[in-house]
Amino acid sequence: MDMNTVTDLVPTADPADWREGDAWLAGGTVLFSYGSQTLRRLLDVTTAGWPALTVTDEGLEIAATCTVAELYAFPEAAASEPVRDAWLALDLVRPCCDAFVASFKIWNTSTVGGNVATSLPAGPMTSLTAALDGVAEVWGPGGARRTQPVAELVTGEMRNTLAPGELLRAIRLAAAALRARTAYRRLSLSNLGRSGVLLIGRLDAPADGGELVITVTASTRRPVQLRFPDGAHPDAAGLAAAIDAAIPFDLYHDDVHGLPEWRRDMTYRLAEEIRAELTDGGRR
Ligand SMILES: Cc1cc2nc3c(=O)[nH]c(=O)nc-3n(C[C@H](O)[C@H](O)[C@H](O)COP(=O)(O)OP(=O)(O)OC[C@H]3O[C@@H](n4cnc5c(N)ncnc54)[C@H](O)[C@@H]3O)c2cc1C
Repeated sequence: MDMNTVTDLVPTADPADWREGDAWLAGGTVLFSYGSQTLRRLLDVTTAGWPALTVTDEGLEIAATCTVAELYAFPEAAASEPVRDAWLALDLVRPCCDAFVASFKIWNTSTVGGNVATSLPAGPMTSLTAALDGVAEVWGPGGARRTQPVAELVTGEMRNTLAPGELLRAIRLAAAALRARTAYRRLSLSNLGRSGVLLIGRLDAPADGGELVITVTASTRRPVQLRFPDGAHPDAAGLAAAIDAAIPFDLYHDDVHGLPEWRRDMTYRLAEEIRAELTDGGRR
């Protein structure tokens, strides 16, 4: 696509350099496919040199510039680490990357931060990081720093809480969420189609509180989380009632990848499958 109003490519990840008419450039797979008639400069954050994935005592830090390919390779790369056995939720990484139905070129350039910042309902990096209670670190002009759960940062279709000039620096996943048992369900209208419904369930270990968390993405315009503390895990009827309360009909997404009625019905069905798998040992 044409971007013939752009005059400069600036290698920086410093919000102090941002001015009106600028856009942060990561993999460029959205910016260069949508084009622009207004942008003047692209600020290339991939030059920042941030390590893609960092294991810490607290959990896993994913740099905004981590590519989908780097994230996909991580569970295998970490296989010899003790964390691999402890972090059961790493099983989600590959299906979430696979949900990103993309060409080889896109896979190797598009970034976790670019996906979350684009905030499509079918953003699989939003699904993954929201489901694991990922917390985004955001840098603002003037040295401002703030954090916000990814599930709250994405507020609607291509809408989020990032103010002009704010930069998504990283997303942190806590070790407790990574230790959880998980269940993943995804539906698309076609074999290689974009996600129409993507639900992830997480059952935290008893020592981590035993909470059951079901995160609904793709079928809704923004992530929706259903949380049930240990001792209050729902039965099928309780789960359906919780979905009724959390997702009004107009929150279901409506585009060529699925009618809202279908997304709603599949949300109930897949949520119940996840509930049964994680809390009833697979019985339904
Ligand atoms: C064939 C194809 C298939 C695709 N399939 C999917 C799909 O299934 N699901 C999906 O969600 N998307 C899909 N996309 C869209 C896109 O590729 C992804 O959303 C991708 O992850 C965007 O990442 P990027 O690094 O390329 O972002 P960029 O194009 O570099 O940036 C996208 C937007 O995010 C902003 N941005 C980037 N990084 C940051 C940051 N660190 N802080 C703040 N703002 C930032 C940019 O300014 C821009 O507005 C697809 C695209 C193509 C071409």
